[in-house]
Amino acid sequence: MSEKKKFKTEVKQLLDLVANALYTNKDIFLRELVANAADAIDKARFESITNSNLAREWEITIEPDKNNGILTISDNGAGMTKAEVIANIGTIAKSGTKAFLEALEQKGGSRAPELIGQFGVGFYSAFMIADKVVLETKRSGSDEPALRWISDGVSSYTIEASDRSEPGTSVSLHLKPDATGYLEEWRIRDVVKKYSDFIEHPVKLISKNKKNDDESTGAIETINSMKAIWLRSPKDVSDEDHANFMAHLDPFGGEPLLKIHLSAEGATEFKALLYVPSNAPLDLFNADRNKKGLHLYIRRVFITDECEELLPPYLRFVRGVVDSSDLPLNVSRETLQDNPVLSKINRNLTRKVLAELAKLKENDKEKYAAFHKEFGKTLKEGLHFDFENRDKLLDLIMFETLNRPPEEMVTLKEYADSMPSSQKAIYYLAGDNREEMEKSPKLEILRANGNDVLLMTDPIDEWVVQAVPEYNGTRLQAIGEDGLELEGDTAKEMEEKAEKAGKAHGKLLKALSKSLNGEVAEVRFSRLLAESACCLVRSQNEMTPRMRRILEAMGQTPPPESKPILELNPSHPLLEKLESLPEKTIDKGDGKIAEVAESLYYLALIAEGSPLPDPAKFTSNVASLLARTLEEPDGKKGKD
Ligand code: ADP
Ligand code: MG
Repeated sequence: MSEKKKFKTEVKQLLDLVANALYTNKDIFLRELVANAADAIDKARFESITNSNLAREWEITIEPDKNNGILTISDNGAGMTKAEVIANIGTIAKSGTKAFLEALEQKGGSRAPELIGQFGVGFYSAFMIADKVVLETKRSGSDEPALRWISDGVSSYTIEASDRSEPGTSVSLHLKPDATGYLEEWRIRDVVKKYSDFIEHPVKLISKNKKNDDESTGAIETINSMKAIWLRSPKDVSDEDHANFMAHLDPFGGEPLLKIHLSAEGATEFKALLYVPSNAPLDLFNADRNKKGLHLYIRRVFITDECEELLPPYLRFVRGVVDSSDLPLNVSRETLQDNPVLSKINRNLTRKVLAELAKLKENDKEKYAAFHKEFGKTLKEGLHFDFENRDKLLDLIMFETLNRPPEEMVTLKEYADSMPSSQKAIYYLAGDNREEMEKSPKLEILRANGNDVLLMTDPIDEWVVQAVPEYNGTRLQAIGEDGLELEGDTAKEMEEKAEKAGKAHGKLLKALSKSLNGEVAEVRFSRLLAESACCLVRSQNEMTPRMRRILEAMGQTPPPESKPILELNPSHPLLEKLESLPEKTIDKGDGKIAEVAESLYYLALIAEGSPLPDPAKFTSNVASLLARTLEEPDGKKGKD
């Protein structure tokens, strides 16, 4: 008995594609065939529930035959009848698994194993590396004789009788000359470990160690761990299991700070086991960082660890596994993009991760602080991109504050809760390092007034704050932005002083402003300064000079700059001296005034860390001012 059958046109097209172009990564042929073997075992195991005669010790074997260049993958699963062979691997878009599921449904079977049928073409991937495939199969629980299916994967296949006696299937691949590397044991181990390690049935490698010419002994070794710990019940997974698995996923991540083990049911079904590692990878913020993320499995079969669709980029520090039963095994990288199943998983996982982080923050402050130290910056990116979860993110991010030691970070909520009731806005100051920021003249009034200020020291903070104009109805107010409203006695006092000085010395302000020749929008007396002589204030919504520098460093063009306001401390000795200058000098706005105005402006620029437009001029100004100080007779100085 031998029948030759032609493949349908679309199968021929598909085979041509597979052999020449479909998969760039040829290793996956083994993944597909092992997955098919595992599916067949699942099917037989399910059938054995109602017919215990069919139960066996389930196994998948891989046997390389170097002498003949043949690699054989066998299983003792369900096997196929002749009709099934023709339907399953003679045509396309007809899946035996799916037919099986439909049959299940008709039977009203409720204990369906995880055999969600998908249309697949996995079997044909054998023709990537073989120019002849021989499949022998015998259906379990059926009287039909075994049969052999043979094809060169071009246009036709042959079916003939086989003397196989045991139920199950073996697929023998006659390897193409350039694919004989797959006969090497290390190679087989490698590929199985990579793609099929968590298959729940043993995958055994049968090696033939030739002792002498006619005698050979076979060694049999299980080469997969079978440990799909994400499929186990969470209570059956020990901390040690987690630590080991985490180390497998990310050797440098350290102990997991947080474990999330979840099983989603309903519209989208998947299992996930996620970890937040202790240590951030070094390249977390590099644009060309390692793009490896969560490992995507489809029914225990590894698909990829480069699937960026599973979590938003701001959660890229999360490690773990997602195992979906709703995706076809033969997904390609292209079909993973914009895949509705993946975007549902993404939303689900994102919500879960944020909720678990919130829990950690409530229950273990110290651990949360450790998390935030490593990944707070990354999380903050989310404020710009994830509108849906913005409120949750706002409750997770933390900042240093002026009145607390650097290690003690607070959330926006904690800051807002500890504000005096008269405080109308959340005050913040952004800068490069805390020590420098603490010296900012703009903080003098807040210190004197007893207000706390968020110190935003992450380079990303200012960018984040732009996306967050308010928290829970309370405005975020940058210190050094015009329009700072302050309550309290000290604030009132300073405000009055500034107002009085402004009225009394209007001419002086005008003269200073005139000699600055349009470099500032205005010169006025300040309510902010307790000690320093001067500072610069910017209008609201104006980009800070620091943010400008960051953008420029990133190669972007910041929006046009509006002019700052130069504020002077009415109580500073220098200003007192200026105020007492004869009116004539002020009216003239002569060289002395110009020199002072320019130096004050430059001092204010230095204090905020901005570059000077003309450092040489500043140096010569200061030098000549110093020279003049020394000219004055000592005695005269004290009398003034
Ligand atoms: P998929 O596995 O997604 O259905 P494949 O092309 O990998 O697609 O396989 C097609 C079908 O061939 C399978 O659904 C199954 O019915 C049948 N098949 C393949 N390999 C085996 C096997 N080892 N044992 C039993 N049936 C098999
Ligand atoms: Mg398959």
